[in-house]
Amino acid sequence: MTSRTGPAPRIDLHAHSTASDGTLSPAELVRAGADAGLDVLAITDHDTTAGWAPAVRALSPGLRLIRGAELSCHWSGAHPPVPLHLLAYLFDPEHPELVAELARVRAAREERGERIVALLRADGIDVSWPDILSGAGGGTVGRPHIAQALIRAGLVASTREAFGPDWLGERYRLPKEDIDVFRAVRLVRAAGGVPVFAHPRATRRGRVVPDELIAELAAAGLAGLEADHEDHSPAEQAHVRALAAELGLLVTGSSDFHGTHKSVQLGAFTTGVEAYERIVAAGVTEVASG
Ligand code: AMP
Ligand code: FE
Ligand code: FE
Ligand code: ZN
Repeated sequence: MTSRTGPAPRIDLHAHSTASDGTLSPAELVRAGADAGLDVLAITDHDTTAGWAPAVRALSPGLRLIRGAELSCHWSGAHPPVPLHLLAYLFDPEHPELVAELARVRAAREERGERIVALLRADGIDVSWPDILSGAGGGTVGRPHIAQALIRAGLVASTREAFGPDWLGERYRLPKEDIDVFRAVRLVRAAGGVPVFAHPRATRRGRVVPDELIAELAAAGLAGLEADHEDHSPAEQAHVRALAAELGLLVTGSSDFHGTHKSVQLGAFTTGVEAYERIVAAGVTEVASG
C-alpha cells in the first residue's frame, strides 16, 4: 500500500467486537470500519480469535482486515504484578500452545467474573452470574459485562461509573490469571505473529511498567508500541514515541473501539503506513481483503 499520490490511508489497529467486550458483532464491526472510511482495520478481541471468521466474511472491497487479538498479561517484576495488554497481529490461530493459553485465560476470566459477582452478592447487590454470562453472548467475559449488569440494576449510570473505585475499579476488582508477558511475547512470535504493547503508558488505567522492562521485552521479541491512544496524554504519547525510536520499535495509533461500552470512535487514532507495512511483513497470516 502506498500513499504517494492519494490521501494517507486510514489504519486503525485495535478494535473489539462481541467476541469479547465490544458491542458490535464482528460483521457489524467490519461494516462500521468501512463506513468510517478506514482502509485497514484490525480486530483484536481479548484473548480470542473467535471473531476472525465472521469478520472476514463481512469484508467489502476497499477494506483490509488484520486478524489479531489482545492478550491479557502481567509483569511479575512488581508486587502485586502489573496487568498489561499485548496486541498480537497476524499469528497462526491454530498454534497449539497459544490456543491452549488463550483457552486457559478465557476460563480463568469466567471463574474470576463469577467470584466478583459473589463478592457483590455478599454485599447484598443483586446481580446474577448467569445473566452476565448470557450478556457476554459466548464472547470473552470481562468487567464491562459486569458493568452492564450494574447499569441494568440501576446501581450505576454508566460504564465509566462502574469502573470507579467503589465498584469494579477497586472495591470489587479481582486480578486475572493471565499470561506472563515474556512468555506471551515468545508465544506470539512462535506462532508467527507480531507483538505490540497496547497503551503501555496509560497511567490513567493504573500502574504502568518501567521503560527498562520495555527494553527487555524488545530484546525478547516485542515489535512495537501503541503510542496514540485515548488513554495516553500528549506527554505520554510523546514519551512512547521517543522510547520506540530509541529501541527500534514500530509505533502504532489506534482507537481501541469498544462500541457503546466506550465513547471513542473507529479511526479516532490511526497508524502510519510504514508501521503497517512492517507488521504485514513480519506476520505469518495474510491480510484479508474483501
Ligand atoms: P477486564 O479485561 O475484565 O479486566 O476488563 C478490562 C476492560 O474494561 C478493558 O479492556 C476495557 O475494555 C474496559 N475498561 C477499563 N476501564 C474502563 C473505563 N474506565 N470505562 C470503560 N471501560 C473500561
Ligand atoms: Fe476491553
Ligand atoms: Fe487494552
Ligand atoms: Zn483493547
